Amino acid sequence: MSNSNQYDAIVIGAGLGGLSTALHLAKKSMNVLVLEKQPKVGGYAQNYHRAGFDFDVSLHVLSAMNETGGLRHLFEYMQVLDKLEVTEYAPMWTSVFPDATYRLPPREAGHEYLKMLFPHESAGIDRYVSSIRAIIEANTRLYWSGEVDINNFFPERYFKKTYHQLLKDCFTDKRLFGIMGQLWQSTGLPNEKCAANWAAE
Ligand SMILES: Cc1cc2nc3c(=O)[nH]c(=O)nc-3n(C[C@H](O)[C@H](O)[C@H](O)COP(=O)(O)OP(=O)(O)OC[C@H]3O[C@@H](n4cnc5c(N)ncnc54)[C@H](O)[C@@H]3O)c2cc1C
Repeated sequence: MSNSNQYDAIVIGAGLGGLSTALHLAKKSMNVLVLEKQPKVGGYAQNYHRAGFDFDVSLHVLSAMNETGGLRHLFEYMQVLDKLEVTEYAPMWTSVFPDATYRLPPREAGHEYLKMLFPHESAGIDRYVSSIRAIIEANTRLYWSGEVDINNFFPERYFKKTYHQLLKDCFTDKRLFGIMGQLWQSTGLPNEKCAANWAAE
C-alpha cells in the first residue's frame, strides 16, 4: 500500500486472476492498485455458509500441487505456500457404473488401485501415468524457463492429438475410458474434441 496516488498498474477485479497479476507486478517492485466492486475479494474463489452447510462458489480442488507441480511452484514463487493449508482430496473422483462403483485415490495410490482393478491393462496404465507426468513436467519447464529442446519435447507428440486418442494409446477396456475420461466436464470439451495436453494438465 502506498501513500501516493501514483500507480504503475491498476488491476480491476480481485479474483484469482487479478490478485495473481497484482502479486506478480508487486514482486517486480511495481506500485499496484487493485480495485474490486464486491465487498469481499476472491471472485469465484469464495465459499458461503447456509442452513448449516458450507458451499463452494466454484473452486473446490487444486491440481498441480505435488512436488513438481506448476501450481505449487507458482505459490512458492509468490511466497504464499506457507500461508496455505493444503488438504489431500480423497477420493479424487468416483465413477458409478450399473454394477460397480470405483473411488480413485490420489497420486500413486490411484495408479496402484487402477492396476489392481484392471490387471490386464497394467502396461497401459503405466504408459498413461508416465505420459501425463511427462506432459505436465514438460509444460511446467516450458512455463517457468521458456526453454525447451523442441526435438525432445514430449508433449509435441500430443500437440495434434485429442485426449481420447491418448486414452486409446493406453487402454482398451471401456471402463478405463470412462474412469479416466470423466473429467471432460472440467476441461469443457468432450474427450474426442479436447486437446490431450490440456486434458493432461
Ligand atoms: C462451478 C465452477 C467450479 C470451478 N472449480 C474449480 C476448481 O475446482 N479448481 C480450479 O482451479 N478452478 C475451478 N474453477 C475455476 C476458477 O474458480 C476460476 O477460473 C477463477 O476463480 C476465476 O478467477 P478470475 O480472477 O479470472 O475471475 P473471477 O473470480 O470472476 O474474478 C473477477 C473479479 O473481478 C470483479 N470485477 C468484475 N468487474 C469489475 C469491475 N468493473 N470493477 C471492479 N471489480 C470487478 C468481480 O467482482 C470478481 O471479484 C471453477 C469455476 C466454476 C464456475
